[in-house]
Amino acid sequence: EAKLKVRDLAKLYGNVTALDHVSLDVQEGEFMTLLGPSGSGKTTLLQLISGLVHPSTGSVIIDGKDCTRAPIHTRDIGVVFQNYALFPHLTVSENVGFPLLMRKIAQKEIQRRVNEALEMVGLSHAEDRFPQQLSGGQQQRVALARCLVYKPAIILMDEPLGALDAKLRETMQIEIKRIHRETSTTMIFVTHDQEEALALSDRICLMEDGRIAQIGTPQEMYDRP
Ligand code: ADP
Ligand code: ADP
Repeated sequence: EAKLKVRDLAKLYGNVTALDHVSLDVQEGEFMTLLGPSGSGKTTLLQLISGLVHPSTGSVIIDGKDCTRAPIHTRDIGVVFQNYALFPHLTVSENVGFPLLMRKIAQKEIQRRVNEALEMVGLSHAEDRFPQQLSGGQQQRVALARCLVYKPAIILMDEPLGALDAKLRETMQIEIKRIHRETSTTMIFVTHDQEEALALSDRICLMEDGRIAQIGTPQEMYDRP
């Protein structure tokens, strides 16, 4: 059975249809990219999957459980945003450990898992720094570590590399790919960059006007004669 099932999901804002009756299956361990121009509904679909926003109609099913109305913290999901959303007054370690603190995990276990997550993103040396002392790429790594630290079943990423320059984007693509391989986490990644989608994805879901225009592997979608 699919890890995530989206069924007939729609979201209206006034008379604007942000998402227009979308159905989608994402398999366990799959790297799925939502690709499409600005305004095509990518962020809305991600927000509905995470529970940040509630749908007008339709359902979100994770591990066979209908969680359409379940609040975000009850879903086994992690989210990484383009703007990182780090706490400026907390160190790198404290930022990464924050989700575990919220889950009332013992301090010693938090330290162990923070170290593990920072190692995963190559930032062990920066644990005592503050976000504003880091580069954009490093801040994005912290945001990723903060998500990895509680081992969510599904990680959602909304244009996580959008604020980085081309060279750094490429480095981070390789890093994300490696982390996907090493953790086997189901990942849903939003971008408007076709090259990025091709480099990262098991499957690409091409969005247009709040609908899925096309879906398939990179080969199926772009290598056909
Ligand atoms: P994308 O992520 O592909 O850029 P969005 O999901 O952000 O697309 O937006 C899809 C459409 O829904 C756009 O027309 C956008 O303006 C509209 N929209 C998204 N969120 C809101 C909101 N909170 N209020 C009003 N309209 C919204
Ligand atoms: P992206 O293009 O990366 O999807 P946007 O800048 O379109 O992001 O949207 C960022 C945030 O603003 C989202 O939370 C979205 O729901 C909200 N938003 C987008 N369009 C509108 C709108 N027309 N009115 C109000 N909020 C909106």
